[in-house]
Amino acid sequence: MKLSQYYLPLLKETPADAQIASHRLMLRAGMIRQEGAGIYAWLPLGHRVLKKIEQIVREEEDRAGAVEMLMPTIQQADLWRESGRYDAYGKEMLRITDRGDREMLFGPTNEEMITEIFRAGVRSYKDLPTLLYHIQWKFRDEIRPRFGVMRGREFLMKDAYSFDIDEASARHSYNRFFAAYLRTFSRMGLTAIPMRADTGPIGGDLSHEFIVLADTGESAVFCDKRLLDLPIPGADTDFSKDLQPIVDQFTNYYAATDEIYDEKEFEQKVDEDNRVSARGIEIGHIFYFGTKYSKAMNALVTGPDGKNTAVHMGSYGVGVSRLVGAVIEAFHDDDGCKWPMSVAPFHVGLVNLKPGDADTDAACNNIYKGLQAAGVDVLYDETKARPGEKFARMDLIGAPLQVVIGPRGLGEGKVEVKRRSDGAREELALEAVVEYASSAVRDGLSHP
Ligand code: ATP
Ligand code: MG
Repeated sequence: MKLSQYYLPLLKETPADAQIASHRLMLRAGMIRQEGAGIYAWLPLGHRVLKKIEQIVREEEDRAGAVEMLMPTIQQADLWRESGRYDAYGKEMLRITDRGDREMLFGPTNEEMITEIFRAGVRSYKDLPTLLYHIQWKFRDEIRPRFGVMRGREFLMKDAYSFDIDEASARHSYNRFFAAYLRTFSRMGLTAIPMRADTGPIGGDLSHEFIVLADTGESAVFCDKRLLDLPIPGADTDFSKDLQPIVDQFTNYYAATDEIYDEKEFEQKVDEDNRVSARGIEIGHIFYFGTKYSKAMNALVTGPDGKNTAVHMGSYGVGVSRLVGAVIEAFHDDDGCKWPMSVAPFHVGLVNLKPGDADTDAACNNIYKGLQAAGVDVLYDETKARPGEKFARMDLIGAPLQVVIGPRGLGEGKVEVKRRSDGAREELALEAVVEYASSAVRDGLSHP
């Protein structure tokens, strides 16, 4: 992408009403624009990150055995009356009436709809387990939307749902998502800690929130430091096999959010040196809630004994749009974002120091084309702006690698490559740049 053709409305001033770094940087870097309280337009740069995060989530859901679909944003009130949640959900639900006076709502979550879809299509235990997910916009009329996309009213969520014949197999489904989430967040460079959590209005008896530690997080959390260094399940993990050992490795250590935190228990289970009491951002949340919805909504299958039984269900959310903010909270400095390679809007920022100079233009064009052909996402600054302005802009955007080309270096066949994560600079031979960048993308290099 050539910068002159891109839409990148950067802000000169730091927005005064943005309280946390990720919100400030997303506005400054022209990633989002507020269109209403807690409602954002995703501008091209922000949209690229959102799509990359969404794709990682998708790949790991698929790997875990879940099947993608898409449910609508608008739902019928009657469906929610079946589960009893139409009245229980309260003011967070945005209620709508259509021209025929039918009561509808903008979905805050999809347990009811997926249960309705499931009961229409599955009759026998032989078809189980069924694991379905979608990645769709939700609306919750939050009382205090804030921190930009972290707590929006309209936000993008991945929500998955599992249907099993009994509790034991439902736990296996739960474990699939538990392990998948560890991989998902780790691929974005995040250390997410699964913490025992309250099940809230969704109900049920088994639930974990996945939390990244950050001073700006909204929850107070308490955990064992050793959780930060546990191995993440590999790409070769067989999700059909028993995953309990992976889950146990994590759940053996104490980790709880403030809602269920117990000081005595914490001090008993974690020795002083390993106690972490910090703040965190909830990026995912998984629940097993048994037959709560299937009983209320008559989602039955015939079991091996020929009798109808209510299916055991779980639901599994990831805050896809919140993750954009969470990744920035984890990786930034005063000058801008420091994207991990896997979610960077552009892998490489290519800076032409002397546009109009025939040799510099030719060298830049070659590298630009070479990078594109190698599948590297490159933003090419061929504008007439001053070098200082170009550098500041690239730092703000935060591409993991900056390739800087000017007549001086070119005289010796050299270009400069700067790593955004730690500012390290290297001189490379002109011919080596494309291979260097593509192998950095392959290796996910960005945080050595
Ligand atoms: P929170 O406690 O932050 O309000 P929740 O527990 O109500 O979230 P869930 O129903 O568990 O949210 O939703 C699944 C995921 O969706 C959350 O883990 C979070 O990452 C994301 N999410 C929830 N509410 C919002 C929001 N208002 N803005 C952005 N993301 C959200
Ligand atoms: Mg939650």
